[in-house]
Amino acid sequence: MTYSPAAVQAPQDSVVDDLYWRDEYSQITEDDAFLRNIVETSDLPALLVALAAVTRDFSLLRPNLRPPQPPADTIGQPHGGMSQEAQMEARELAFQALRRVRDEQLTRVETLDEDQATSILEWITNAASPEYHPFLMHDMALAEGKSGKPRWNYEDISAGREFSVAIIGSGVSGMAAAYRFGQANIPYTVFEKGNAVGGTWWKNTYPGVRLDTPNYAYSFSFAQRDDWPQQFSEGPEIHAYTCEVARRGGIEENIQFGTEVTSAAYDEATGLWTVQMIVDGEQVSRRFNAVVSAVGQLDRPKFPDVPGRTDFAGIHMHSAEWDNDVDVTGKRVAVIGTGASAYQIVPAVVDQVESLTVFQRSSPWMLPTNGYYDDMPDSVKWLVEHLPHYGQWMRFWQYWLGVEGRQHTMNVEDGWNTPGSVSAINERVRQELTRLLAVQYQDRPDLLAKVTPDYIVGGKRMLRDNGVWAESLKKPQTTLVTSGMERMTENGIIDADGVFHELDMIIYATGFHASEFLEPLQITGRNGRDLHEYWGGDAKAFAGITVPNFPNLFILTGPNTGHVVNGSLFTMMESAIEYTLEAFRHLLEENLKALDLKQEVLDAFVRDLDAANSKKAWGHPSVNTWYKNKFGRVSQIWPYPVLDYWKITRRVNLDDYNKLS
Ligand code: NAP
Repeated sequence: MTYSPAAVQAPQDSVVDDLYWRDEYSQITEDDAFLRNIVETSDLPALLVALAAVTRDFSLLRPNLRPPQPPADTIGQPHGGMSQEAQMEARELAFQALRRVRDEQLTRVETLDEDQATSILEWITNAASPEYHPFLMHDMALAEGKSGKPRWNYEDISAGREFSVAIIGSGVSGMAAAYRFGQANIPYTVFEKGNAVGGTWWKNTYPGVRLDTPNYAYSFSFAQRDDWPQQFSEGPEIHAYTCEVARRGGIEENIQFGTEVTSAAYDEATGLWTVQMIVDGEQVSRRFNAVVSAVGQLDRPKFPDVPGRTDFAGIHMHSAEWDNDVDVTGKRVAVIGTGASAYQIVPAVVDQVESLTVFQRSSPWMLPTNGYYDDMPDSVKWLVEHLPHYGQWMRFWQYWLGVEGRQHTMNVEDGWNTPGSVSAINERVRQELTRLLAVQYQDRPDLLAKVTPDYIVGGKRMLRDNGVWAESLKKPQTTLVTSGMERMTENGIIDADGVFHELDMIIYATGFHASEFLEPLQITGRNGRDLHEYWGGDAKAFAGITVPNFPNLFILTGPNTGHVVNGSLFTMMESAIEYTLEAFRHLLEENLKALDLKQEVLDAFVRDLDAANSKKAWGHPSVNTWYKNKFGRVSQIWPYPVLDYWKITRRVNLDDYNKLS
């Protein structure tokens, strides 16, 4: 259970840092007509760079064919906005190159040197600032030596000093930390209160659970699975991926399952954290040099504060505590909430229930996504199998398109005073999405009035819409209640209009206690300081990671590291892990007990951050979301470009910290 270096299966000496790396691909045997069809039905930017990398013919990446990528206010244009003319030329080039892959039996691809990787980057990003290059190469599996893999080893720098780390939680951030620490041979143990890895993907088993971000880009940079069955895969598929990564990465054996960490206290004299945990009902205590919180923040279900809530005697469960033994068939069911979880549950259960009553407090903005439930196209499946590294290039292309995504639609324009929007672009998006809603609900003006959101686009994360939500609401068995809930009774809910809804089952899709970072862990820092008292409900951490007076405590997916319309959860958490590893390196090389963030550094960081968030749609005073805490401060969202987060996590500025020795 405790980490031993031999457990790491990843190739330590290899330049490749990808647990899904394949050396050999299937040989192409199909005829020209088949290949023609492949290029006709494929996304061209990913296809061309994959072909250039395999054939080593970088002249395929002609400057006139660069995908221009006009900013996508709502739906991005296919092929990165390439003109019809450019698409035709690119298809012909791709066809010829694909024939070459077949005729020369090219079944493997070598890594790229710096110049080759750069020429691909310049082409695929349409010559975006070179500042992006190192950032993007981090996620380019073929770029030699550019990944987040640590380039140092514990044994080489520790001078025999004992050092160990506790990671709390084995969700995706805890797993990524474990993998990277393992690569540096840092001794660690992961403590997981459940009995499986995967965190949110293990816990959330409600009907309809699936990804709502494109699947290729939703994966670890060091585990670039290439054969995803769908663009937005279902929950069990993602959970299976996390289990597979834990196995391939040698993480699993270093996880102590069934162990709930209850507290951690820092001891000034020794510089060690005493971590208390419950194992098999017994209180156990262990000491570590550093504590890494990977507890996530969408873990503790939140229930609405409705009079009589506990009086309801029927079946009731939160979306994150789904009981798969419960059959909804023929039941009178209520779903409370219309956020991301409800949005997946409602279409999944609507045809099984006798009646469905949806209690909506605010209606979500929706992003049209026709292929939301679709299987991966056959052309993609074939390319993944036959064109070496195509899947990784798909991932890379999707990743790049999401880096800044629709951020530009969310900026508050100085002097803009049209109610319901924050800028001309934001207003344009609102009008476009409103128009699409009007089309969807043209036969139901009663519903249209209820489902048209009354808050700024981008105030909250948009939900993927392939029409199933509208279909579900229009069904005769469905009632959409927008008046609110007056009270709950033993057998139903009385709405704010006084109408009684008799129910067999209530599904709470009402979100989580997201602002209460690290609750209910009791964390005691220097001089007996309690973390939650220090925060007072207003969690703040430098880069979301470190907090003054809590030396060697590192938080993953911490305050202000989330995104609304762009970015990548994986980049944010992997960057935070790389920063944490840099801190470990300093501790070991300089034989320090601990690093303690200076208060003034955090204050300055938060001052700038708050100012930046106030200039975004989600920071607007009229918007009320879980991104804001009880003080109205945005404590969830990173307001800057993702690149900025990556930059500030490249190195630990020791001047920001008090060095404890
Ligand atoms: P959520 O987005 O916070 O939605 C909660 C819903 O419950 C909202 O509609 C909210 O209304 C409503 N609500 C809360 N309290 C209520 C009350 N007292 N009365 C009536 N309605 C109430 O929670 P979630 O749907 O569980 O999603 C949480 C986050 O998890 C998402 O934002 C997303 O980041 C993530 N998620 C991701 C996926 C995925 O596919 N990858 C799926 C599910 C969740 P208001 O809007 O008015 O607050």
